[in-house]
Amino acid sequence: MPARSRPPSKAQPPSGDALRIAAQVDRDGVAFFRRATSLVTDPRVKFIFGRAADEYGRALKSLEGVPGGKAKGKAPAVFPFEAYDRIECSVCGYETTGDEIPERCPSCDAVRYAFERDVKREEAWDLVARTTKESLALARKAAKVVTKAEARDAVAQAVEVHRKLLEEAKEEHARVGATP
Ligand SMILES: [Zn+2]
Repeated sequence: MPARSRPPSKAQPPSGDALRIAAQVDRDGVAFFRRATSLVTDPRVKFIFGRAADEYGRALKSLEGVPGGKAKGKAPAVFPFEAYDRIECSVCGYETTGDEIPERCPSCDAVRYAFERDVKREEAWDLVARTTKESLALARKAAKVVTKAEARDAVAQAVEVHRKLLEEAKEEHARVGATP
């Protein structure tokens, strides 16, 4: 470790970047999985995405408890927001990108169901596994650079939340995939 010739910057602790990125990815994860939860038809898939949203929320809560963890910033694009951004009416093809799914299609008056998506459980677990693998790597990166003891515990907790979710997603993906 190189000797420190000047005092650390007040603006940004050394762990700031990795921590901010890990926290932002969790924030994105909560937003993405909430969005995905509201968009799918199958209640079992809603459960999967809802679970992922909750777990990302838990990890985020830990990281936000660390000084600097609440800072918003740019994070790598881990979640396929574009794929879940567009909402399309399956009856008439009307498209919208709003946050809320319309209760009725403004164009053809079809009910909300027409906007929902048919995502398979296998696909959902695969998505959770892939994104959580990346989020786990970023949380581990943050864990390597935090120095204060209380911050270390909080980041370690976030790492653990991601590790368990990844394990669960992999197991469930294999299990659901094996079920005809
Ligand atoms: Zn329509």
